[in-house]
Amino acid sequence: MNFSDSEIVGSILKNHQFDSTNNVAEADLVFINTCSIRDNAEQRVRKRLTEFRALKKKKPGMIIGILGCMAERLKDQLLEEEKMVDLIVGPDAYRDLPNLIQTVESGQKAINVLLSLEETYADINPVRLTGNGVLAYISIMRGCENFCSYCVVPFTRGKERSRNPQTIVDEAAGLFQQGYREITLLGQNVNSFSWEEENINFAHLVHKVASVDPLLRVRFATSHPKDLSDELLNVMASHSNICKSIHLPVQSGSSRMLKMMHRNYTREWYMDRIEAIRSFMPDCAVTTDIIAGFCTETEEDHQQTLSLMEWAAYDYAYMFKYSERPNTLAAKKYPDDVAETVKSRRLQEIINLQQELSLRSNLRDIGKTFTVLAENTSKRSVNQLNGRNSQNKMVVFPRKDFKPGDYLDVVVRDCTAATLKGEIALQRTH
Ligand code: SAH
Ligand code: SF4
Repeated sequence: MNFSDSEIVGSILKNHQFDSTNNVAEADLVFINTCSIRDNAEQRVRKRLTEFRALKKKKPGMIIGILGCMAERLKDQLLEEEKMVDLIVGPDAYRDLPNLIQTVESGQKAINVLLSLEETYADINPVRLTGNGVLAYISIMRGCENFCSYCVVPFTRGKERSRNPQTIVDEAAGLFQQGYREITLLGQNVNSFSWEEENINFAHLVHKVASVDPLLRVRFATSHPKDLSDELLNVMASHSNICKSIHLPVQSGSSRMLKMMHRNYTREWYMDRIEAIRSFMPDCAVTTDIIAGFCTETEEDHQQTLSLMEWAAYDYAYMFKYSERPNTLAAKKYPDDVAETVKSRRLQEIINLQQELSLRSNLRDIGKTFTVLAENTSKRSVNQLNGRNSQNKMVVFPRKDFKPGDYLDVVVRDCTAATLKGEIALQRTH
């Protein structure tokens, strides 16, 4: 989401005669796009700011701004605490940046952290800041109002709003024409996408985007388990260019924890959704997010997380220690009472298990042939390319004369827990 926001900001600034540079020392404007999701994300931003302090000493005219969630959460407190910061902009106020920059140029500090009920930046064509011209992100909605009890997002990014679907389809079609071959539709809970004027839900939207061209791959994130519908699974199963991979954050395997987290589903509901995914698409990868050590979590709750992970056989997981966030319901209502050492131990057990599950999942792929979209030269060797299969697994294979954007059939010969290694089965003609 943050990356996509940076591309929107890049576009707004480009229209006001600013261009991007890869060399921060020569920049006139430096923005840090911030995340507040866990305390350590905020600490990293603070550390980065100290690096910019040195840069600004050398170049006193440099404007330093903070964008995104931390701007929204801490507002003018940040201007107080971080003296060299000139500008604070919340996630719904990016259009105001040119004015705010003018204010700073006239010698004042500037801040706009107003949240909006409507802003989706639908008309803004994001600049693609980095990347290889093959993969792109499209933001389809903003905000979140699920209020999971541990989560700061509803406070920092405001109400949920869906973007006009036609602008999404047009953006996808434009990207395809420019040579992009894979897009990821982004939102905090994409399954609740809704454009009431034309009665379009997320399943309809995915169908429309997948219909742009069979050679345009479509992914999406994040799916909330409570809203994952059979209608969507059916649309996924019926389009080969909709990637067979679902990110379905479980957070915990214990229904008691899930209730305290306000996730609005139980362990059984979640298992039913996984069974549905597998019955519509037996080859679909499932990945997840897990929080270790949420308030009052017992050893029994933790064991339930481990057993659910085993059962679901996740292909990949993002795993975190619970981090109490100010103002959330959990911060107000529940004690953050799992000792740090216990949190760390539980997280490590979760990571160890996932490592094993990822390896098992990759071992099952040895001997199989996958269509891979070539992305980049491998970091390890210039003679290798990497790309991903439909299941979103990274595959490394010999470069030959292939280039990013080519589709290739690759047969898997070897693997680690993180990567599949293969050789070309045959080159596709399209
Ligand atoms: N909207 C997505 C997730 C967005 S945040 C969803 O609901 O699935 C990404 C992940 O960060 C979450 O899935 C959760 O696992 C983790 N996370 C959020 N708040 C957290 C907190 N306070 N402490 C630790 N992890 C947290
Ligand atoms: Fe946070 Fe829950 Fe919204 Fe995800 S769905 S962003 S975890 S409140």
